[in-house]
Amino acid sequence: MTSPVWHPFTQHGLREPIPPVERAEGAALYTKDGARIIDAISSWWVTTHGHCHPRIMAAIAAQAGRLDQIIFAGWTHEPAETLAQGLVALAPSGLTRVFFSDSGSTSVEVALKMALGFWAHGKTPRHRIVVMQHSYHGDTIGAMSVGARGVFNRAYAPLLFDVATVPFPSVGATQATLDALEAECRAGAAAFIVEPLILGAGGMLIYPPTILAEMCAICRRYGVLFIADEVMTGWGRTGTLLACQQAAVVPDILCLSKGLTGGAVPLAVTLASEAIFEAHLSQDRARMFFHSSSYTANPIACAAANANLAVWREEPVLARIAELEERQQQALDRLAAALPIAGPRRLGTIAAFEVGAADSDYLADIAPRAMAFCRERGVLLRPLGNTFYVMPPYCIDDADLSRIYGAISEFIERLDREGRSGLRC
Ligand SMILES: *Cc1c(COP(=O)(O)O)cnc(C)c1O
Repeated sequence: MTSPVWHPFTQHGLREPIPPVERAEGAALYTKDGARIIDAISSWWVTTHGHCHPRIMAAIAAQAGRLDQIIFAGWTHEPAETLAQGLVALAPSGLTRVFFSDSGSTSVEVALKMALGFWAHGKTPRHRIVVMQHSYHGDTIGAMSVGARGVFNRAYAPLLFDVATVPFPSVGATQATLDALEAECRAGAAAFIVEPLILGAGGMLIYPPTILAEMCAICRRYGVLFIADEVMTGWGRTGTLLACQQAAVVPDILCLSKGLTGGAVPLAVTLASEAIFEAHLSQDRARMFFHSSSYTANPIACAAANANLAVWREEPVLARIAELEERQQQALDRLAAALPIAGPRRLGTIAAFEVGAADSDYLADIAPRAMAFCRERGVLLRPLGNTFYVMPPYCIDDADLSRIYGAISEFIERLDREGRSGLRC
């Protein structure tokens, strides 16, 4: 019998295998037929410390025995209150309000609605959102609207709202980004939304903290709201708890999800400045923030996030990350010295590089081929086109990290041999 499941980002017509995973521990997944698979992409960027962290699992179990779910409009509960306080204490000072939702995309929708609400309730409404070229902010209509347009959202393009796009600040061309942003700010933009320091789905594109700081300063100068989408970059991925910290930037609105629960269960938050909260504060019910989802601040998810915060407070997470950064750099250096990869780069725990030329027909199916090749060798990899990246959980050991780079090397060598012999398979 064929499965009725419709998988995300999956072309079922190609009938590629979809292996069932039964359990996970640390950096490893175990399939139903007993194979051990190293999770080289942190299960799509969510798993931070490692799979099934005992402390987070225990918190989920304990909370599940007490309170499963409660409407969050007009009611509250201890896990959400504790989490909100913990997040305000961790976040850059000035972010004093916490709004809960359940995915990165919804945290972005909430951020956009907060920003538009801020202006709608003010004296001079503003509507225009400024975005960065190659950005990704999620797959709902609003999140797609502020993200890069392409094959992923072509079918919906007529329904996506207009935004102003500034170029990605590539090396040697950063002034163009700053100038474009300044022009949009001067023209009365409502908000600028950006992934700090590294654009994830756009191809692991890295830009320096100085540019992030300058972009934030420009927004400040014109009173344009600065929205940091740290859905991927948050929770240590870039070497610090938040990427914004490396530029000493305090956004007006901050989106967090993925690693918020250590990657165990879905939860998201949108943090806002007091000014944004106050713009919605009134005796008038028509000015409240009109947003909710059924599972807003689900107690079990909040308990998992509280356990994650405790792990951050009590375990040497940053030291573990610093050590992984070093091992990633060494592995990347070795790969770059041995094989024809392009643009090797690293930010925090993330290593990325390109294999072959992006526009080559021959390489059009390089990502699915690499995925299948690595899967057969016990490694979960999922390149973005011809951009390969390794983003493992922080607990990964040397042996597993070497196996990841070993599988990648073997794949590139094979590709190279085929290329030279003019073969295609
Ligand atoms: C993954 C991601 C999102 C969307 O998060 P979901 O939980 O998949 O909806 C938004 N922004 C960035 C930067 C992301 O990497």
